[in-house]
Amino acid sequence: MSHLRFKAVEEASKRKAVEVTAPADKTSDYFGKYVFDRNTMRKYLSKETLKLVLNAIDKGEPLDRQVANHVAAGMRMWAMEMGVTHYTHWFHPLTDGTAEKHDAFVDFDGSGGMIEEFSGKLLAQQEPDASSFPSGGIRNTFEARGYTAWDASSPAFIIDGTLCIPTVFISYTGEALDYKTPLLKSIGAVDKAAVDVCHYFDRNVKKVFSYLGWEQEYFLVDEALFAARPDLILTERTLMGHESSKNQQLEDHYFGSIPSRVSAFMRDLEYECYKLSIPVKTRHNEVAPNQFELAPIFEECNLAVDHNLLLMSTMKKVASRHYFRVLLHEKPFKGINGSGKHNNWSLGTDIGVNLLSPGKNALQNLQFITFVSNVLMAVYKNNALLKASISSATNAHRLGANEAPPAIISVFMGSQVSDLLDELEASRELKDIEVKEKTGTRLSLNYIPEILVDNTDRNRTSPFAFTGNRFEFRAVGSSANCAAAMLALNTAVAGQLIEFKKEVDRLIESGMKKEEAIFTMVRKNIKESKPIRFDGNGYSDEWKVEAAKRGLDCETRVPVIYDAYLTGQSVDLFAETGVLTERELHARNEVKWEQYTKKIQIEARVLGDLAMNHIIPVATRYQALLLENAAKIKLLYDEGKALKIAKQDLAIIEDIAEHLDFIKTKTDEMIEARKVANKIENEREKALVYCEKIAPYFDEIRYHIDKLELIVDDEMWTLPKYRELLFIR
Ligand code: ADP
Ligand code: MG
Repeated sequence: MSHLRFKAVEEASKRKAVEVTAPADKTSDYFGKYVFDRNTMRKYLSKETLKLVLNAIDKGEPLDRQVANHVAAGMRMWAMEMGVTHYTHWFHPLTDGTAEKHDAFVDFDGSGGMIEEFSGKLLAQQEPDASSFPSGGIRNTFEARGYTAWDASSPAFIIDGTLCIPTVFISYTGEALDYKTPLLKSIGAVDKAAVDVCHYFDRNVKKVFSYLGWEQEYFLVDEALFAARPDLILTERTLMGHESSKNQQLEDHYFGSIPSRVSAFMRDLEYECYKLSIPVKTRHNEVAPNQFELAPIFEECNLAVDHNLLLMSTMKKVASRHYFRVLLHEKPFKGINGSGKHNNWSLGTDIGVNLLSPGKNALQNLQFITFVSNVLMAVYKNNALLKASISSATNAHRLGANEAPPAIISVFMGSQVSDLLDELEASRELKDIEVKEKTGTRLSLNYIPEILVDNTDRNRTSPFAFTGNRFEFRAVGSSANCAAAMLALNTAVAGQLIEFKKEVDRLIESGMKKEEAIFTMVRKNIKESKPIRFDGNGYSDEWKVEAAKRGLDCETRVPVIYDAYLTGQSVDLFAETGVLTERELHARNEVKWEQYTKKIQIEARVLGDLAMNHIIPVATRYQALLLENAAKIKLLYDEGKALKIAKQDLAIIEDIAEHLDFIKTKTDEMIEARKVANKIENEREKALVYCEKIAPYFDEIRYHIDKLELIVDDEMWTLPKYRELLFIR
């Protein structure tokens, strides 16, 4: 018998690495070739226009229509020289990924001919007919219009002959319908709040940037094998498949040598990234077979988020040139590690000081400890919110499994910093710090630099870890838009810094000296946020018990986790920082619940189809073969002997019957449960029923399918097996 599986296995086994050649000798020669960056602007914009644009980017000054016209003209000229014919506003709706709608530059010239047209108006704002993007009820029919508006702080770029202009996406009434709008607001909020706190230490600070360096994990699968797995095509994960006898237990993949096909893909991808100014730097194999990682040099948060989204779409395109499919799903394969995105985050001033890095003198170190303790407090107070920001139907498979952070947010500080925090908490005096300021010698705060230079004790089990000069938010999902996590974190930290400053000012007003007031509040932070600090093994069951005792949020049901966005505390936080209104928060949660339901619903359908159309027919056919064999034995031998000879056949026949019975019964039950769930109108309630009543069938049904995979004749099995999907050579 020849079916898709064997053709695919054969095709995949014959593939060779696809040749790639570098676009130029040096990376710097073509870095940013497709980006309207500062260098390009200098060539295509007048001095005056350039100055105004840079003021808008660097200082947030408004851009008027006239300037937009000049920029549009320069952009168009550059783009046309690059062979571009179309332009698009590129935005991040509340679904996964990005959206774009292309328009040609052409327009009638008014006298019967055509001209290339691109005005400031078209650059600055558009009204795409994007009414099917989720809005959570904000865009009712009477106010259905959605607008995209130019984000000048992220440069335009060219993809496949189209000029892409990064934009925000908002409703007619000004509400955010995307990730970028609140992200930009959160960046502004943390900038302002952090600058205010920096002024205790240095009056010259004018701006504080939030930085992001993401690490992107992903899987590659051969295109032909992918095509033979309907579950991968429709859900990006395998809904069934028995573990391969060998998978990651030998730990021979991690940092191992990269297979030549993959290495060609990686180089090709890097060339494309460089042309788009994505500063990718690190590549390596990950823990699981076929799993890899890529990380850039960190950048300002908004740009880094755009670059991550651009990377994810570029990866998919480049992969197909190499006959691969990229899986960004958090858990494509059972029994081996899933993929995440580690968001390395820090705050830095416009004069180049990393606020999360220890300094050279006492004052700088007090500043360092001030920011670290405020981040701790922010994460502590908002641990449920931060978890909500990274939770999704797909990431839920990864969190809590024994290879990824648990569904509890805690912070790992490392023993040295922990000791220091404990010491500060215990100390009664500030005199030490004052002395140190003058003499620059000895004392607790002064010894941080030496220790941190070599901060190597990392804890891979922690969802939020301090790594010497930044925090690493590791619970983010590999397929997620980083913005969701970053805007929650920036907002939480902004809110905390605002409160910190209020209290310090109050103490100063009541007569306390500035340093002492700061120190008092730092100690209060350290003390109160203590329950969030955990340096032990986050995978252990003891931690779950302990975390609950500490009052940390331990909820594991995703639809309920989302409630954290709507608590009084979160609503106040987002309102005070001006990042999202209560109405926006409600609308966004509606979208989240709806997305959750849809994801589970699709998986349930695919699982049902595969069970009925692939698994049951194949297992029945094999069973029939065995029955036929047993019947023939019966013809040849007397009953006693026949039963003896056919004993194993009969045992397998019964085994198969049992599994089939279970699969069919449970699949029917699951379909019935869906019918009930689909009648529910309330999105939260519906998502919760999908979570509690439908998703649990997946593992139950799968268990029996995977057992059948071990029993049924390999020749007959139609779906590529894990051992075939997972080992690219
Ligand atoms: P590891 O796997 O050891 O955590 P990687 O080199 O893979 O380290 O990734 C570290 C990421 O952190 C990179 O994107 C790097 O640019 C980023 N990073 C380094 N310093 C900072 C910082 N101060 N702020 C934000 N990101 C940073
Ligand atoms: Mg890391």
